[in-house]
Amino acid sequence: MKIKIVRVKTKHKIYEGKLLESYDPEIILIKLENGYNIGLKKKEILSIEEMEETKIEEKETKIEQNKSLKKIAIIATGGTIASKVDYSTGGVTPVKKPEDLLESFPELKEIAQFEVYVPFVLDSSQVTSREWKKLAKICANLLNREEIKGVVILHGTDTLHYTAAALSFMLQNLNKPVVFTFAQRSIDRGSSDAYLNLKCACLAALSDIAEVLVVGHEDMNDLSCIVLRGTKTRKMHSTKRAAFQAINDLPIARIYHDNKIEMLSKNYKKRNEKKKVEVVPLFEDKVALIKFFPGASPEILEYFIKKKYRGIVIEAFGLGQISESWIQRIKKACKKCVICITTQTIHGKVDPYVYAPARKLHEAGALFLEDMISETAYVKLGWLLGQYDLKKVKELMLKNLANEVNMS
Ligand code: ASP
Repeated sequence: MKIKIVRVKTKHKIYEGKLLESYDPEIILIKLENGYNIGLKKKEILSIEEMEETKIEEKETKIEQNKSLKKIAIIATGGTIASKVDYSTGGVTPVKKPEDLLESFPELKEIAQFEVYVPFVLDSSQVTSREWKKLAKICANLLNREEIKGVVILHGTDTLHYTAAALSFMLQNLNKPVVFTFAQRSIDRGSSDAYLNLKCACLAALSDIAEVLVVGHEDMNDLSCIVLRGTKTRKMHSTKRAAFQAINDLPIARIYHDNKIEMLSKNYKKRNEKKKVEVVPLFEDKVALIKFFPGASPEILEYFIKKKYRGIVIEAFGLGQISESWIQRIKKACKKCVICITTQTIHGKVDPYVYAPARKLHEAGALFLEDMISETAYVKLGWLLGQYDLKKVKELMLKNLANEVNMS
């Protein structure tokens, strides 16, 4: 394969580097000497000079696996973690073939044997309930195979907690770990979190925690990862490597870079390989998650009711207050729709018995979801509405089904 080294002149500066493939026809993408990629607007470029062509041998790598180790299934779905370095350009491209992944992380073969699946490649902002159902079915099939000891799912961070919550409900009678992991920095960067996260996720997949988990960097160091429950975590930082944190919950375990696992909680479901996983891949898409804001008009609610939404989670202020101008409409809406209340404070719980606006909302028929986080509440509501009538859904929303709620 040939790659081009170019010198690009703009009004302000001259850049030299490898020409990368650009997905935007208006932008020229270059990998600079220092390893960073830069995008330059075509209209701001004064000249492009081709310096030389370099030839790169395309090599085929066959990864030998140690047959005496336990087997893990890895499902790569896209996002920063599911990318590989393209040595011909120095850039990163999504993993499209299973072999690509093991080629990028050869050290993993000392931990387990792997089967790798790539059912779709998406930035996680594009993932919908369609992908959740697909993943749940794939996981159930894998988990019911005796030789697979756990499943690791590589996922973009943006909506990882929604997918983890969806699988926590869709996979019933879980027998082995299902572990989501991610990267905030791609593997071509020195500060990448991809390797430690993936290694710790594989160790978690071999552990005795039979829950849907999220595993990733604990803090800014490269020393440990934390193991979080899929229904009780959320992306809490847009750039830091410790992107996910436990919300209203303790991390279940800590995994050190030297492979040691320290249990931090006793409250988790244990591995039981005799169990058979059942999958309930159902979801009602007419469900909304609304963040309340000062002065929000009740017309917003009207819109969803007109469009026949069957469930709405309102992320309210503090203990569960919203403007009293919504109360009458909520009372009417509760006849055809399940309305749930969570808090914008993220940490803590809602309580209808402290302030009058919350009490009125509760009396109007809204369900106060204790310490359930909004994203998990949204997913649970859609999953229940995909199966049951309103009465049953209201009853189950306040029952703990996948460690998603601590009832007071
Ligand atoms: N936008 C990316 C995604 O969520 C970010 C990441 O991979 O972490 O897919």
